[in-house]
Amino acid sequence: MQPSEARPRFADEDLPEGSVVDGDAVSGPLVDEADFVVVGSGAAGGTAAYTLACAGYSVIVLEEGPYVKTRELVEEVHATFGRLFRSKGLQVLEGRAFMPMLQGRCVGGSTLVNSAIAWRVPEDVVDDWRASFGLGSITMKELDGHFDAIEHDLSVRSVAEDVLGENNRLFLDVARSRGIVAAPMRRYDRGCKGSALCLTGCQNGAKQGMSVTYVPWSLARGARLYSSCRVERVVLAGNRAVAVRAVAASGHVVEARARRGVLVAASTVQTPGLLRRSGVRSPALGRYFQAHPGLALGGLFDRPIEMAFGATQGCESIHFRKTDRFKLETISMPPELAAARVPGVGKALASRLARLGHVAVWAAQIRAEAQGTVGTGLLGGDVVRYTMTENDMRATRKAVAVIARLMFDGGAREVWPGIHGVPPVLTSPDQVALLEDGPLEPRSYSYIATHLFGAARMGPDPGTSVCAPDFSVHGTRGLYVVDSSVFPTNLGVNPQHSIMAMSRLACTRLANAERFAAVA
Ligand SMILES: Cc1cc2nc3c(=O)[nH]c(=O)nc-3n(C[C@H](O)[C@H](O)[C@H](O)COP(=O)(O)OP(=O)(O)OC[C@H]3O[C@@H](n4cnc5c(N)ncnc54)[C@H](O)[C@@H]3O)c2cc1C
Ligand code: SF4
Repeated sequence: MQPSEARPRFADEDLPEGSVVDGDAVSGPLVDEADFVVVGSGAAGGTAAYTLACAGYSVIVLEEGPYVKTRELVEEVHATFGRLFRSKGLQVLEGRAFMPMLQGRCVGGSTLVNSAIAWRVPEDVVDDWRASFGLGSITMKELDGHFDAIEHDLSVRSVAEDVLGENNRLFLDVARSRGIVAAPMRRYDRGCKGSALCLTGCQNGAKQGMSVTYVPWSLARGARLYSSCRVERVVLAGNRAVAVRAVAASGHVVEARARRGVLVAASTVQTPGLLRRSGVRSPALGRYFQAHPGLALGGLFDRPIEMAFGATQGCESIHFRKTDRFKLETISMPPELAAARVPGVGKALASRLARLGHVAVWAAQIRAEAQGTVGTGLLGGDVVRYTMTENDMRATRKAVAVIARLMFDGGAREVWPGIHGVPPVLTSPDQVALLEDGPLEPRSYSYIATHLFGAARMGPDPGTSVCAPDFSVHGTRGLYVVDSSVFPTNLGVNPQHSIMAMSRLACTRLANAERFAAVA
C-alpha cells in the first residue's frame, strides 16, 4: 500500500512531549498537531521553537537533515560534508562566476558547522531598514533586549587568550600595530578548547549551536522534533496556514497541523521555494537575494603558526566595513582544505606542503551590493543566480591587498593570493600593487558564500516585499517567515546573531499577540 493510502497514525496518541522522531524510522503516514509548527531547526528555527515553547505553546519542529549528536561528529571533512551539509557542500551560486555556497542540512542547520561568531546587527543597518524599507517597527532598542537574552543563554564571550592560537594572535598583533582596529571575536562558547574544528562540528560540545542548546531545550519544554523530514509545502485553507506536509526519509508522509501558525525558517535559499510550492505568489518572491562573498589568502611564515590549534575563527576587524564594505577575519582551515590552496607543482608543492604548519590563512567577507535571485530549477531544486558588481570587485581588490600587506608586515616569506591573473606566489611587499590593480572579473577569485540574505524580504508594500513588517506573508494568515530571507539587505557582519534576534523578536511579538487575542 502507498504511504498516502494507509490510515495515518496520530502522534498525539502515543508520542510523549519532547519526543524526537527520526524520519528514517517513520513506518507509515503520521499526523501530529501543535499550536505552532516550525520548518527548519537552524539559527532561526531553533530560536523560534525555544521562544514559543518558553511562552507556553506546544511546538513541532520539522528538519530535513539528520539529528547528529556531539558524540557522532567526526573530523574528516569529506565525511562531514556528506552528512551535515546541503548537497554534500556542492551547492553553487550561478552567475558570471560559479561560487560555492555552504549550508548546514541537519538539526541545528548551519549553526552546527559554523564558527560561532556573534555580531549584533550594526545600528546603521537598522536605521537604513527603517528609512529605506519601511521597517519603522524594528528598533535597535528592542533588538538589543533580544541580543542580551540570547547572549546570556548561549554564553557569548570573547575568545579566551589561552585558545587564541598563532593564526589569530599574529593577525591581531600585526593589524593593531598598523593602526587597524581589530579584536578577538565574540562567540557562542562554553569552554572552547581551540581544536580548530568548528567546520566539522564541535566534538567538545563547547560551541553553542542550536543542536545542543535551543533545540534540546525546546524538547525539554515539550516540543516535538521530526528530523530527516523534508517539508514539501505549507497547507493553506483559504488564506490561512493550517499545516505542513512533509516527507520523511523513509518515504512516508508526515502532516503537522498548526492550531495557531506556521513559522518558516528554512533559510534564504530554501524558504522561497517552499513558499512557492505552497502557492504563495508575490512579485518579490525570490528577488533581492544578497550575500557576503568571502575569500581567503594563505601566507607562509618562518615561524610556526599551527592552524590546528586555536579557535577556528578567533580575530577580526570591521575597520573597513563602512568605508570599503569588507570585514577581515582569521580562519583556520583543516589540512585537507588548506592543502588544496597550496600553490606549485612537484618539489615546490611538496616543500610547501611539508611546511603547512607555518601557514596562516586570513580572509575577507565582502558586503557586496549585488542582488541575485532564488528560483526553482527544472528538476525542482533551488537555483541561485548572482553576479558581483564592479564596486564589489573593487572592494575585493582592496581587501586582498590589505590582507597581503598585513601578512608581509607580519613576516610572511610568501603570500598565496589564489587569484587568476596574479602570480600564485608573492614574495615581496612591492608585489601587493599587483593585487591593488588585480582583475575586476569575478571568475578570477575563489569566493565562498556562507552569509545569505533576502529573497522573501519584509516591507509594507506587497508589490516589493513578500512579508509584512510583522513577519507574516502578505495576504495570508498564520504564515510567518523568520529567517534571513526577510532581511531587506545584508549586514556587513556575520549574520547568525541578528537572525536569532529577529526570530526571537518575531516570536515574542507573536506569542504576546496570541495571548492578547485570547483575553480580548
Ligand atoms: C561554514 C559556515 C560558517 C559560518 N560561520 C558563521 C559564523 O561564525 N557566524 C555567523 O554569524 N554566521 C556564520 N555562518 C552563517 C550562519 O550559520 C547562517 O547565516 C545561519 O545559520 C542561517 O540561519 P537559518 O536559520 O536561516 O539557516 P540554517 O541555520 O542553515 O538552518 C536552516 C535549516 O532548515 C532546514 N530546511 C531547509 N529546507 C527545509 C525543508 N523544506 N524542510 C525541513 N527543513 C528544511 C535545513 O536543513 C537547515 O537545517 C556560517 C555558515 C556556514 C555554512
Ligand atoms: S574551536 Fe574546537 S573546541 Fe572551539 S568551538 Fe570550535 S570546534 Fe569547539
